Amino acid sequence: MLADALQTLLQRLDNAAHAAGRPAPRLLAVSKRQAATAVAELHAAGQRAFGENYVQEAIAKQDALAGVDIEWHLIGHLQSNKAREAAERFDWVQTVDRARLVPALGRHRPPERGPLNVLIQVNIDDEASKHGCAPEDVDTLVAAIVAEPALRLRGLMAIPAPFEDAARRRDAFRRMRLLFEQLRARHPNADTLSMGMSEDLEPAVAEGATLVRVGTALFGARPSKETT
Ligand SMILES: *Cc1c(COP(=O)(O)O)cnc(C)c1O
Repeated sequence: MLADALQTLLQRLDNAAHAAGRPAPRLLAVSKRQAATAVAELHAAGQRAFGENYVQEAIAKQDALAGVDIEWHLIGHLQSNKAREAAERFDWVQTVDRARLVPALGRHRPPERGPLNVLIQVNIDDEASKHGCAPEDVDTLVAAIVAEPALRLRGLMAIPAPFEDAARRRDAFRRMRLLFEQLRARHPNADTLSMGMSEDLEPAVAEGATLVRVGTALFGARPSKETT
């Protein structure tokens, strides 16, 4: 059943990319509040990258799925006191949004795991309720990240405001693309623009998302309580 949902979603991504004349983005399956068995089922259907919001919940699933070749992304807000576990247990941290986190992530990255891939989270619609740095703070974070050999700067991530108005939503994705292009002009190895979720992946892909983060459209509605 999850295999069918995966095929449907991959087709939807292909269609969106084709309509926009862009390459299809990578798919990150967002497994927050989903059981480890559901992750295993989707992995068996061919999905390799999974995103989690909470460090403790992710670690429980990682332990349950030890030995399975999964690429784990942290997409939830990272508290400073969790930086060590994040650096040890994830392949990517998409939510680096303040310079203070950066040395802690670098220091705690186990050398045998290779560099930790990081994205800078941008609060593109300047929402009080959202984490992420201001667009004008990206450069400061970039400088901090590239100074850490244990970290690899891969790009930017955003969660735009859920405006009803499609044009306003699309404008946020467009502003993220412009920031990403500015970043790439100086750091050509930054190859990832993470934006777009179940409800809005088409406009995100149209504006150049290279990775979309999808939960509901793959797994169905999330259980309201943690099921791990
Ligand atoms: C939950 C979540 C998603 C997935 O949202 P869906 O609407 O279920 O696709 C994507 N990104 C982040 C940061 C999330 O917290």
